[in-house]
Amino acid sequence: MGSGATSRTQLVERAERYAKTVALPIDYSTVSWEVSERARRRAGQCLYNPQTGAVTIRLTWAAFEAYGWEQFSGVVRHELVHAWEFQQFGASNHGPRFRQKAREVNAPRTCERFTDGRLALSCADESCDWHAERHRASSVVTNPGRYRCGACRSPLRVTHRESGESWRSHDGYERARRRIGEEW
Ligand SMILES: [Zn+2]
Ligand SMILES: [Zn+2]
Repeated sequence: MGSGATSRTQLVERAERYAKTVALPIDYSTVSWEVSERARRRAGQCLYNPQTGAVTIRLTWAAFEAYGWEQFSGVVRHELVHAWEFQQFGASNHGPRFRQKAREVNAPRTCERFTDGRLALSCADESCDWHAERHRASSVVTNPGRYRCGACRSPLRVTHRESGESWRSHDGYERARRRIGEEW
């Protein structure tokens, strides 16, 4: 994995490249892309400014991390159908016209609900993509050193999503928790 900023730029680049392969007549000159760290309920979002005609597609980083590209590309297709509707009709919802177009490009017909855990468990071995989510400070979160990756038995890493702090031991947890403070 690259540094955070690089991976996010790469996600936008990948989504932009991919979008142009999806058979939708979209004017990409008015479409901009961004990555959201915070969106908690959606994997993606498509915003429209009727004054300027600008379309913004916002991708949720944690959803990409949790889904992987294959599934996440469905989110991109879904948001592109919204972009297409906004450009063609000035409005977008999940009505019959949307559903028809979504079918044509094999996109999920509803906005994917995505509730990322506050805490992400991942494998300390970068080549292993095992991961899990936690919402609370359970014992695996406060003491990950006592647990192993569910796939390859390597040590675990816990990441607090809001702050980006991560740790692999109880001491690490306590230090991170102090740094995170009120934001926990
Ligand atoms: Zn939608
Ligand atoms: Zn593993």
